[in-house]
Amino acid sequence: MTDRKPIGYACPRCTVGRCLPQKTTFAEMHHGQLLVIPNMKVYICDVCKLAEFEQETMEALWHELYGDQSAEDTQSVTQQKSSSHYGE
Ligand SMILES: [Zn+2]
Repeated sequence: MTDRKPIGYACPRCTVGRCLPQKTTFAEMHHGQLLVIPNMKVYICDVCKLAEFEQETMEALWHELYGDQSAEDTQSVTQQKSSSHYGE
């Protein structure tokens, strides 16, 4: 009887490998800004090297960076303000 919890999950791409939790440096361009997060948790397939970040982690991160507003919202608000200023 094995009581060991299975680590990771079967890879959705190659279906042969196993995606195992690892730490990596996440780097991505987001709205013209380079976003770099060291020690980000990621699942990497040991066969095809598919890397998947946890959705929960990403959402928490975005929330921390931008709060309830997305960068896109902030931009459109700024544009509206300047156009109404010229209209008056
Ligand atoms: Zn794979």
